Amino acid sequence: MAVVGVLALQGSYNEHISALRRIGVKGVEVRKPDQLQGLDSLIIPGGESTTMAKLANYHNLFPALREFVGTGKPVWGTCAGLIFLANKAIGQKSGGQELIGGLDCTVHRNFFGSQVRSFETELSVPMLADKEGGSPTCRGVFIRAPAILEVGSDVEILADCPVPAGTPSITITSGEGVEEEVYSKDRVIVAVRQGNILATAFHPELTSDSRWHRLFLDMDKESHAKAFSALSLSTSSRDAEGRLNPRPLDLPIFE
Ligand code: GLN
Repeated sequence: MAVVGVLALQGSYNEHISALRRIGVKGVEVRKPDQLQGLDSLIIPGGESTTMAKLANYHNLFPALREFVGTGKPVWGTCAGLIFLANKAIGQKSGGQELIGGLDCTVHRNFFGSQVRSFETELSVPMLADKEGGSPTCRGVFIRAPAILEVGSDVEILADCPVPAGTPSITITSGEGVEEEVYSKDRVIVAVRQGNILATAFHPELTSDSRWHRLFLDMDKESHAKAFSALSLSTSSRDAEGRLNPRPLDLPIFE
C-alpha cells in the first residue's frame, strides 16, 4: 500500500490524515527531513503559510522538500500548501517567505480577502468527475484562501471560480514598485495539476467528498506505472535482436 506523508507542522494535517483513513489509506505525519525518506507521496496541508515556512525553516525542511518535489513523486498542496509549491507568491507579509516552488504559477496569498471573507461554493470539476466519477461539481471550502493568477503552459487547470462580489481588489506591483496594476478578472484559477504536482486553493479534506484524495492516490499509481514501464523498456527487457520480451522482468507488480 502507498505510504502517504502529510506535512504536520501546522494547519489541517489531521483532517487530511482522517480523509485518507476514510478511504483506507494510512497517512504518516512528517516533521523532520529524514521522515520524507520512503514516502510514496506527500500532502502539504492548509494553514498559515508564513508560520508554516518559519517552522519548516526551523526544522531545516526546505532542501529536503525541494528534493522530494524533484523526485517526481506526487505532491499535493492545499491552500497554504499551494502557496508553498508556487514558483511565485504575491501578497506576502513584508520580507516575504521561503517557498518550495516547482509549480509554474503566480499565486496571491490572500486573494479573497481576510478570514471573515471565507466562503463555500460549488465548483465545476469536469476532469475530477471524469477520472473519479460522481457529480460534475464539488464543494469548495475557501478559508482566507489564495488564488492562482497566472499559470505556465505545462499547467493543467482543473477548476476555476468566479470572484465573489465585494472581494477587495488587489494591486500587483512589478519591479521596484514602479508599475502598479489592479487585478480585475472576474474568475480565478483554484485547482491545477502540473506533472507530479496537484494544488487546490480550497480544502477537500474538510468535506466528505474523497475524490480529490482518490485522484491524488491515482497519481501515485501512475508514477509507479511510469517507473515500471521505463524499467520494462530498458535494454534488459529486449532480446538479442532488440525485440521486446513479453514478460520483461520478474519484478513485483505495483498496486
Ligand atoms: N492565506 C493563507 C496563508 O497565507 C492560507 C489559508 C489556508 O491555508 N486556509 O497562508
